[in-house]
Amino acid sequence: MKLFTVGPVMMHKEIIDAGGRQIEYFRTEKFSKLIIEIDKMLKKLLDSNNDNILLSSSGTGAMEAAVINLFSKNDKIIIVNGGTFGRRFVEICKSNKLQYKEIKLDFGESLTKKHLTKFRNKGFTGFLMNHHETSTGTLYDLNLVSSFCKEQNILLVVDAITSLISDLISLKGLKVDIMIASSHKALALSPGLSILSLSDNAKNIIKKTNNPGYYFNLAVAIQNFSRGQTPFTPSISVIYQLHKRLSILFEGEGFLREKNNIVNNALYFRDKIKTLPIYIPHNNLSNCLTPIMFKNKNVDAYIIFQKLKNDYDIVVNPCGGILSKKMLRIGHIGNIKKNDFDDLISALKDLERSNEI
Ligand SMILES: *Cc1c(COP(=O)(O)O)cnc(C)c1O
Repeated sequence: MKLFTVGPVMMHKEIIDAGGRQIEYFRTEKFSKLIIEIDKMLKKLLDSNNDNILLSSSGTGAMEAAVINLFSKNDKIIIVNGGTFGRRFVEICKSNKLQYKEIKLDFGESLTKKHLTKFRNKGFTGFLMNHHETSTGTLYDLNLVSSFCKEQNILLVVDAITSLISDLISLKGLKVDIMIASSHKALALSPGLSILSLSDNAKNIIKKTNNPGYYFNLAVAIQNFSRGQTPFTPSISVIYQLHKRLSILFEGEGFLREKNNIVNNALYFRDKIKTLPIYIPHNNLSNCLTPIMFKNKNVDAYIIFQKLKNDYDIVVNPCGGILSKKMLRIGHIGNIKKNDFDDLISALKDLERSNEI
């Protein structure tokens, strides 16, 4: 089986092994040291002195934690909503009874200065965005939003869950108050762990927030973090994996090699499909994935997903909602390389020959 999904993704053998060993008791100096080393490596990875809090939840838990710990009912929040994950921020604000306004973007539409201008000097205090809207494969301009939030003194939360490593490699110079990452996307670990990178500004606000709930109270998490611990039992095996993965990324040219592999996968795949009856529906692409559609309007993308899975043992990412019959997403992250894309292209060529695409 080969995964061309965006999460979970193909994992490296060393990482599978790191998660497959007996778990140790964690209220120990040894485990605290591991957490502190992870934070140091994440600081290096992100080019930032912001502390990195580990939460044992999938990315959505970290999105909610960021929102409820930074904002309360008097805040006015701007949300970029260009797909499933933008809508998730909307639903999080709605269910926590927070005030928000949406910047609704069409499929593949880019975020521009024009979208932001009308929010200038209107008393907004928060901004939520997904750097890469994974549901459509659209990458948004983080520099633009960061400058806007700097100018307007607005707290910025960036879901970088599928842009970390593939597109976002440094927080330097950006005004990002909370950056969210999670374990099973480009980090290529098991699911169940997320990372919140917190600016000093964010930490100060978190300390003063009323009612951030119980399990996701980040003030308590920050307190525990200062001694290399978490308030509750963390996903220990995923933490072992994260430590191993970061250590490998910092061996020699490891990080550059990883980033280049993702970029090369994307370029290679996009070039190879030029000869197939397939097209890419928009231009605002990330390195993380390529959205594809079929020139023949009668092709049902979901059936192609099933065919690739059942007949070729190749799993690509289907889409939800109205896109499910129209589009597939081909992931470029994790332990996949050029020769894996050759297999995928060859399967697609087969389907072309048998007139299925
Ligand atoms: C995967 C993903 C999430 C988190 O989804 P979970 O199912 O909670 O892991 C959030 N935002 C984006 C952009 C994602 O791609």
